[in-house]
Amino acid sequence: MATVTELRERLRRPLAAELAAGCQNRVVAGGVDRLLASSLGNPFPRVRELLGGYGDLSVPEREDVLKTALAELADSEKIKPARTPRPAARQAVPTAAPGERLPIDAPLSRLDTGPGGARKLQTLGLHTLRDVLHAYPHRHEDRRALPDLSDVEEGQKVTVEGRVVAKSRRSPRPGMLVIDVTLETPSGGRVKATWFNQPWVEKQLREGASLVLTGRVKKFGRSVQLGVEHHETLDNAQDSLSTGRIVGVYDAKDGISQEFLRRAAFRALGAAPLDDYLPAHWRRKYGVTDLADALWGLHFPSDETHLTRATSRLRFDEYLFLELRMLLQGEDSVLQGKRFQATGDDINRFEAALPFRFTNAQRRVLLEITDDMRGDQQMARLIQGDVGSGKTAVAACALYLAVRDGYQGALMAPTEILARQHYANLRGYLGQLDVRVGLLIGAMTPKDKLEMQTRIAQGEVDVVVGTQALIQENVRFDNLGLAVVDEEHRFGVQQRRRLLASRPDVLVMSATPIPRSLALTAYGDLELSIIDELPPGRTPIETKLLQDTHRVQAYGFVMRQIREGQQAFVVTALIEESETLELLAATQLAEDLKTILPEARIDLLHGRMSAAEKDHVMERFRAHEFDILVSTTVIEVGVDVPNATVMVIENAERFGLAQLHQLRGRVGRGHQQSYCVLIAGEHSQKTRKRLKIIEGSTDGFVIAEADLKLRGPGELRGTRQSGIPDLRLADLANDTEVIERARELAKHILAHDPRLEHPRLQYLRSELQNRSESVAYREVI
Ligand code: ADP
Ligand code: MG
Repeated sequence: MATVTELRERLRRPLAAELAAGCQNRVVAGGVDRLLASSLGNPFPRVRELLGGYGDLSVPEREDVLKTALAELADSEKIKPARTPRPAARQAVPTAAPGERLPIDAPLSRLDTGPGGARKLQTLGLHTLRDVLHAYPHRHEDRRALPDLSDVEEGQKVTVEGRVVAKSRRSPRPGMLVIDVTLETPSGGRVKATWFNQPWVEKQLREGASLVLTGRVKKFGRSVQLGVEHHETLDNAQDSLSTGRIVGVYDAKDGISQEFLRRAAFRALGAAPLDDYLPAHWRRKYGVTDLADALWGLHFPSDETHLTRATSRLRFDEYLFLELRMLLQGEDSVLQGKRFQATGDDINRFEAALPFRFTNAQRRVLLEITDDMRGDQQMARLIQGDVGSGKTAVAACALYLAVRDGYQGALMAPTEILARQHYANLRGYLGQLDVRVGLLIGAMTPKDKLEMQTRIAQGEVDVVVGTQALIQENVRFDNLGLAVVDEEHRFGVQQRRRLLASRPDVLVMSATPIPRSLALTAYGDLELSIIDELPPGRTPIETKLLQDTHRVQAYGFVMRQIREGQQAFVVTALIEESETLELLAATQLAEDLKTILPEARIDLLHGRMSAAEKDHVMERFRAHEFDILVSTTVIEVGVDVPNATVMVIENAERFGLAQLHQLRGRVGRGHQQSYCVLIAGEHSQKTRKRLKIIEGSTDGFVIAEADLKLRGPGELRGTRQSGIPDLRLADLANDTEVIERARELAKHILAHDPRLEHPRLQYLRSELQNRSESVAYREVI
């Protein structure tokens, strides 16, 4: 978004050059008249007027008007760009909404959000006024002054607004669908917008519909075409919350429009008491704005600085609450835990039974673990390591040590598929060592479950693998000594604490590469162990980035692998707004592939399936009953199919690098050379750079660092990306300072008032309690 200053400079420079070159009207291509007639002249009507008919003037006259014009430009600081004229009211910043004041924890049924509004919000996990206030947009779009179409540049990312006046579809190649729409903007300009391979958007694009599109510009002579990255249909083209301003884009679901969510946020802001829980002197000391300004600013910023100010306040709060919570729980970590012998002999016995030797990194981490296990204190340790770095093998050893000391062990996984896989792995590691391993998951029959629960309670099982079922259903252990939790962030802090309540030692495994400073904060009471080395002899996965015009070749390659007896994953576009669309995309892709690859056996996995259905498909895939698994991103969490050697990711540009890296980790689990093909649709240079990082590196930490460096300021990262439920506004690379300041304040507060009892801290205390139970947690469970 160009500022007035930039716009002025863009006009001033050629005019100054024209003057310097003797007013020959040769400096500016097409002449000075043309320059002023372009959109560059729009914000400066006086200058335009002055220089009207420039070509027809004599040289001295030209010199004269140019000098006046340049003086005018130097003095036009106050002139606002007025490129797309709008009624003044639509520019106004809303500051209040009608309706009564409600308590912050009021249920949404009390807020006027239109018919069925409260229910819709509920499906997004939003139940109270507070939930809505803190359901922040995951990004913002600048829709203030929409660009003049004659002024946009090739490759530029723009947002335009207008009405659909024509629509057509074509299929330039088998398996490729292009939908073209012609949009007429309020100023009468026309732009052609294009969607590739997204048949489901068609019905939203009826003629007459009002659309807001964001995409990349392609120019063909004078006509402008847009490769669409995000689109929004507007019921009410005059909606001042959705147009003519910086607009937030929210996480949504089918049938829940962005307009609706903005209205709900607006109403909530108007109805809520936005009393600040941070006293003013602390706000001053830590340089943060007040709560009302921050919440308005995140949902409805009046300009960039407002958004920045808002984000930094709310981000500060997130860290503050996290630190407070961690400090308040801190005493937990020095509690008495189990004390194990964990003898060197037992470690050797475990390793001797392995088909491989531990890597140095595994050995180091194992020493850190056994040190903890031998101590009196309850162990609370996080093992962080890339996919396949051998975390599970280390955890299996720790479980073995616990069992040798007469205790039981447990391993919790986030999904049933993963629980089964861990179960199979642990049986592999521990079966030959006389350890009895059991499985407990929701999908089991009540009878089997009961039987397993009884055996666990009577100590007839040594190690239990399961899902949340392990803590949710009444599982009583005979003598639980060590609990291993896989992929911490999918459980949330609450569950971990429930596990901790029975005071076993705890090991958490995570593949999410996060900087150490943050790991310490986010996991607070956990010590950190890092496995920073892959087992030897792995053939690195070969990664190739392709333009989607080369899709057919990519699938030709997949077919060759299949003929050699291998299998392939194909992951479809990530569609942030809608599960149904994601499903449609996957279904459509599976159909396309059946056309392109008639010989291959193809099946589908998606998020709408029940856990049992997913398990069934995965089992069949593992048994090689079909060749290609087309999937939405549900396979993100690690399932082993050693025979799968190709991972194809469609619309790779829509994924974060961490996600791509995780997805890629699904292959390369066997002995064969494995491949990852990233198919990129429309994308910018910057996106290309990001994807190149994945192409060039297989090191999760390197990738995470590079990713963070490339991301620009102001690009919000949501929960999904940071992987940590408490942090929705976190920007892990740049937050070290904020984290430290928040920690300082948290310590200061608790040093003076360890239980937050002072009346002045009443709001802070209730906010802390309520946040712990609020959206952030519900959403990940
Ligand atoms: P993670 O849990 O970190 O994803 P795993 O423990 O599941 O990693 O190990 C991934 C694969 O590598 C498994 O097949 C495992 O048997 C194997 N593996 C683990 N450690 C080693 C090692 N030191 N040498 C060779 N292979 C190993
Ligand atoms: Mg694993």
